[in-house]
Amino acid sequence: MSESQKTLSNLLRETRRFPPPAELAESANVTAAAYEEAANDRLGFWERQADRLAWSKRWDQVLDWTNPPFARWFVGGELNVAYNCVDRHVEAGLGAKVAYHWEGEPGDTRTLTYADLRREVSKAANALLELGVRKGDRVAIYLPMIPELPISMLACARIGATHSVVFGGFSADALRTRIDDAQARVVITADGGYRRGKPSALKPTVDEAVADAPSVEHVLVVRRTGEDVAETERDVWWEDVVERQSDQHTPEPMDAEHPLFILYTSGTTGKPKGILHTSGGYLTQTAYTHWAVLDLKPEKDVYWCSADIGWVTGHSYIVYGPLANGATSVMYEGTPDTPHRGRWWDVIAKYKVTLFYTAPTAIRTFMKWGDDIPAGYDLSSLRVLGSVGEPINPEAYVWYREHIGANRTPVVDTWWQTETGAIMISPLPGVTEGKPGAAMRPLPGIVADVVDDRGESVPNGGGGFLVLKEPWPSMLRTIWGDDERYIKTYWSRFDGMYFAGDGAKKDEDGDLWLLGRVDDVMLVSGHNISTTEVESALVSHPKVAEAAVVGSTDPVTGQAIVAFVIPRGAAGEEVEGEAFLKELREHVSRKLGPIAKPRQIMIVPELPKTRSGKIMRRLLRDVAENRSVGDVSTLADSTVMDLISSKLPEAK
Ligand code: ATP
Ligand code: MG
Repeated sequence: MSESQKTLSNLLRETRRFPPPAELAESANVTAAAYEEAANDRLGFWERQADRLAWSKRWDQVLDWTNPPFARWFVGGELNVAYNCVDRHVEAGLGAKVAYHWEGEPGDTRTLTYADLRREVSKAANALLELGVRKGDRVAIYLPMIPELPISMLACARIGATHSVVFGGFSADALRTRIDDAQARVVITADGGYRRGKPSALKPTVDEAVADAPSVEHVLVVRRTGEDVAETERDVWWEDVVERQSDQHTPEPMDAEHPLFILYTSGTTGKPKGILHTSGGYLTQTAYTHWAVLDLKPEKDVYWCSADIGWVTGHSYIVYGPLANGATSVMYEGTPDTPHRGRWWDVIAKYKVTLFYTAPTAIRTFMKWGDDIPAGYDLSSLRVLGSVGEPINPEAYVWYREHIGANRTPVVDTWWQTETGAIMISPLPGVTEGKPGAAMRPLPGIVADVVDDRGESVPNGGGGFLVLKEPWPSMLRTIWGDDERYIKTYWSRFDGMYFAGDGAKKDEDGDLWLLGRVDDVMLVSGHNISTTEVESALVSHPKVAEAAVVGSTDPVTGQAIVAFVIPRGAAGEEVEGEAFLKELREHVSRKLGPIAKPRQIMIVPELPKTRSGKIMRRLLRDVAENRSVGDVSTLADSTVMDLISSKLPEAK
């Protein structure tokens, strides 16, 4: 590789800065001193964070890293995760405090206090025991966003069963693969849930999936929609089996390294991997980061994370982190445009949400729908806004801050992965001067860096590969059943470092900017150009709502940039003609330089996204290079690719 190929181009210049509001800075949970504290004694720092939890037996050793890359944290310690998330708050006198304000899509609601949660989780734990589930067994959970979902997860944690939550939108095939891989004994599901204003069935998918899944002994079915379902001999109803159980159950202490859950990655770059997380370290880091990054004040905040619990964001920041902290959360069942496009803002106003955590894909959708929609709601309760899932384009960051946060709230762009279990790189809302589009710094106790091809740290101003240089408490322990793949995927690219698979750059201040997947990086005339930077340049054009950029083989430049663009507002002549495409090409050229000018821009109605809302560039690359498209099993809407292909005669 030539010199110029070694780093990603560092094209985007962003000079807007947003210091923390004075009031927040004064009362923030975390101050700048935490960085120093952790740098001086990293393990001691994590040990103090573990003290947020109640341990039935204290650990003998903070970290055992004698057999890398297999880590053991809080060695010898014992705790029960469900006890930490539920019972101990009740015992501390907070039984009447709301754990979840649940909002169903049709407008029905349920309020669960911590005391309610203890009763429900205990009953579900007793039911699982009656169904023969034992410590170490696996339970697959395929539920809509209803309270029984966190209740089931906590019931598993309570008895030491390892859960594998499968997102409710997945097909029978995807569900079967995941059930098989984990050899689940029980599947917990529902007749269906509500999506886009109508019942959406789940049970038929489960029936199909378990038809040849011999490991499954029982299917436990929650009644949510009341629609008719076919019954099989493995089925038992939640209302029959769970409701009659005792609401008393004594949680059993588990080893700190007891497997808490398996969760599959979203499949943005290829076949999903079954990521294994354990108990003590995972709960320590989710609790700490939820408190530090969102600046959670459990006694007064109302927190809402809009993710689905089927993704890691929901596991760590709807269930485990917030509950470990005794927070009051909102949980919403449905889609953002049901019954109208202001539903989310309505929810925020109704519950007076103070801390809100969502994804760039949602923010870009709201931008597309128009500023006037959130303007119609009272969002003045909000004080911190978070983002996760993809790099946030500077324009989306500024829109979020302005139209949702009234130009007052900090935006924290949090970088992490299913594999990391918890937030790793993020601003701290009371400390960091925010830069739109930058994830900024590794959190206290986390050691991240950007390295070149040979694993050498790049200087400020340089770009390369994001790596983690020290183990962290909530790190994945392996890929379920496949230690070899664990080593090969994450620990073989660079000696002794965790390879995240993402590109990043360090700016002149040493702050980190995520540049998208290493697999997506384009090589144009010898320059590594990041998809994220070109997309952000496109999105900064007032008539562009969303953009996805890929590299396509080109005889002259090696690769050429091909962009897929969704225009903002109503599609019409001015956002479709040649003149508009020329204007966009010029716009990118002005923002980033002529090297980044797309060879081709195509106006499309939709972009292919994973079910967690991330753009799947590999499929667009297939289109741009005229190949048949690859694995689409995790694609949210399988018709999108046909729609795009049909619009693109030139790409054929
Ligand atoms: P797969 O690994 O199967 O391809 P995936 O990587 O999409 O799927 P997740 O673990 O859900 O599965 O996503 C983690 C990835 O999401 C990160 O590696 C990164 O590429 C992206 N990401 C998450 N948060 C951010 C962020 N704040 N900024 C930039 N990228 C982010
Ligand atoms: Mg990944």
